[in-house]
Amino acid sequence: MQPAPTSPIVTNIMLKLGIRARILFLILAATVLPLLLMDLYWVNSQQQSLLNNARATQVSVTENVGNQVDNFISRKVRALIIHSQSPSLQFFDINKSTLEIDALLFQDKDITKAALVDRNGQEVVSIKNDLKPDVPKNVKNTDAFRAASYLSGKEYISPVLIDASGRPSITIAVPMVTFTQPQDLSNLSTAESGVVRGSQDIKGMLIVQVSLDSLWSNVLLPASRDHGYAYAVDSQGTVIAHPDNSLVKMHKDFSAVPIVNLFKSNIDKTAPDNRTIAANSEKNVLVLATFQKVAATNWGVIFEEPMSSIYQSVNNSLGVSVALAISAIVVMGLLSLSLSRYITNPILLIARTTKQIGQGDLSARITRIAKDEIGELSLDINNMAGNLQEYIGRSETQRHRIEAILNNTVESILAIDGDGKITIANNSTVKLTGLRIDKIIGKQIEDIFKWQKQNNPFSIDFFAPGTQVYDELAYTNPTGALHDVKVIVVRPTEFQSAAQAIITIHDETESRELEKMKIDFVSLAAHELRTPLAAVRGYLDLISYQGGANLDEKIKHYVDQSRTSVVELGDLIGNLLNVTRIERGTLALTMSKIDLADCAVQSVQSLQFNAAGRNIKLSYNGPTTGSFMIGDEVAMREVLRNLVDNAIKYTLPNGVVEVTLSDRPQHYVLTVKDTGIGIPAKALPHLFTKFYRVHGGLESGSRGTGLGLFIAKSIVERHNGTIGVVSKEGEGSVFTITLPKFESVSLTQAQAAAEQSNIRRKRGWITKNIAR
Ligand code: ADP
Repeated sequence: MQPAPTSPIVTNIMLKLGIRARILFLILAATVLPLLLMDLYWVNSQQQSLLNNARATQVSVTENVGNQVDNFISRKVRALIIHSQSPSLQFFDINKSTLEIDALLFQDKDITKAALVDRNGQEVVSIKNDLKPDVPKNVKNTDAFRAASYLSGKEYISPVLIDASGRPSITIAVPMVTFTQPQDLSNLSTAESGVVRGSQDIKGMLIVQVSLDSLWSNVLLPASRDHGYAYAVDSQGTVIAHPDNSLVKMHKDFSAVPIVNLFKSNIDKTAPDNRTIAANSEKNVLVLATFQKVAATNWGVIFEEPMSSIYQSVNNSLGVSVALAISAIVVMGLLSLSLSRYITNPILLIARTTKQIGQGDLSARITRIAKDEIGELSLDINNMAGNLQEYIGRSETQRHRIEAILNNTVESILAIDGDGKITIANNSTVKLTGLRIDKIIGKQIEDIFKWQKQNNPFSIDFFAPGTQVYDELAYTNPTGALHDVKVIVVRPTEFQSAAQAIITIHDETESRELEKMKIDFVSLAAHELRTPLAAVRGYLDLISYQGGANLDEKIKHYVDQSRTSVVELGDLIGNLLNVTRIERGTLALTMSKIDLADCAVQSVQSLQFNAAGRNIKLSYNGPTTGSFMIGDEVAMREVLRNLVDNAIKYTLPNGVVEVTLSDRPQHYVLTVKDTGIGIPAKALPHLFTKFYRVHGGLESGSRGTGLGLFIAKSIVERHNGTIGVVSKEGEGSVFTITLPKFESVSLTQAQAAAEQSNIRRKRGWITKNIAR
């Protein structure tokens, strides 16, 4: 299910609030909210019950007041009816009537004036409540007279009149009729008072003015209590009694007041649906108001009470409960704060510590560890930090070690990234370049290193796959120091390495210098030895040839031995000189068109004697002429003689040595095959290096120099040829030379290449015990 998307504003607020504030907020919400809701519910139900109580009270108060008003009027009317049956009045006996009316006034203090009126509307007796007779008037045209005599013959109750002193009063007129049969006067109602067929049945009437003062002060005013008060309106909605008497004096129309309006609209109903409403009063105060109709007069008695006072008790307790709620919020807030601190402190501590660890302070640890899940988390984090510290420590040590190795390595070692920028450089690089390390790291390798090979600029492809070796390069550093270097570029392929290439620079300046000094020394020594040796050889020759037969056999033998040793020494010196020439690059060759077949034949022939001496069969297979090539004839013959000589030397008697020359499209192949002692496999890779000898003290008496094959290889390579060997110990060896044909080489090119030096040895390049 998809979680409901949280609004970004809420997320923002939550982020800003932080965990502690959120927990605080949640706890407060969880505790205070129900409290507030309960409070609200309580207030609401309290208000409701207060309202219900107030409504019930108002209904009973208004009913009670209404009944009292009704009784008040009804009693007056009934009293008048009873009096109207008095014979004195009915016969208009003035004296007796005066007494009767006096009695009426005396009995009822509310009656302010009473008059006996004849059927023509003429007052016969008129007395005020001070019992003084009033001047009789004709009241024929008054509402009271007319209503009572013509309309129904019933008693008449006037609207409320306000006299000059502001007092309310009503006029009641009771017609005098003759009862058809004796009645229980005490229970008479006006309608039952007699038979009225028409105005002729009415003998006259009693008209009284009744002051309502006592009614208001005895009935309405006591009903007013606390903040509630009662008032009365007539059927038109005009106020007829009110605590504020000025309204009554003004005949204030209350029709627009909602409760009065309600009363008026229900005036004809005996049982109205609703007599209570909460609405604005005449003074625009929200009140609860109830009306009650007064049956006798169609007046409305109204009781109203401001809502605020109804709710007063709740409002009072509301204040208390708000105060309680606020203190609950404060207490809960404090509790939640300490709870949220209790919950979040360890989390914040963890957050702070992990941040520290993240920023590299691996020694940071969570110090307070609770015995709960958070405590376990803290322990785990501490352990993790410990392991990390240990791991980083180990790799730091490793790094230091590697750094130490790198920095103490004689070779300059560098690493470059994919863009050719230098990322690592060791101390030797600093020494080699003469630059500070910060001037090297981050720089393009081409900007720091400019190579030269044989005085020409040379560029290295640092991104060639595998391992590339670049020999004999020269590098001049910014201080102008020239270095002979060998560069090895390794491109790691096995794993995704940050370094795209690792470059090792061997500074060979010193070793080459040393090598040069050695060569110079050997060359000097050889040169210096040559002259005395030549002299010794000359004298020995002299003794040998001139002394001749005169010499003692023994002495002759010694002289011959000495001569052979001197020749061998001469060979050695000659070879040493040639080696120095090769190494200095000064070996001089005289290139011309030569016949390789001829060279081969000559070489084989010149050694037939040696072979025969060792009882070895030496043969040649191939053309005897016409195999042309560009080369130095003497040098070529030397090479061939050396190979054949070796083959004879390292083949035991009765062996076979076979020289073969064959033709390929571009080159000649010359092989020297023997059935000799062979060469051990482990010696083969070193065979063509200087001074290397496999069979040093050979029983055949070989006393070679270990230089022949080295010189042979150099000469063949100078002819752009190759030399190689296949051999098996005890079975024999095959030396193979390939040399380019005449057609494939330009003579001038070859000559130019060879004309580096004119130094030429009379006795050839490879000198061995051939002279023996
Ligand atoms: P030298 O013959 O003067 O010792 P070379 O350079 O000509 O020096 O030969 C080097 C070594 O190679 C020899 O000492 C020998 O042990 C070995 N060698 C050369 N040719 C042969 C061969 N045909 N059979 C066996 N060993 C050979």
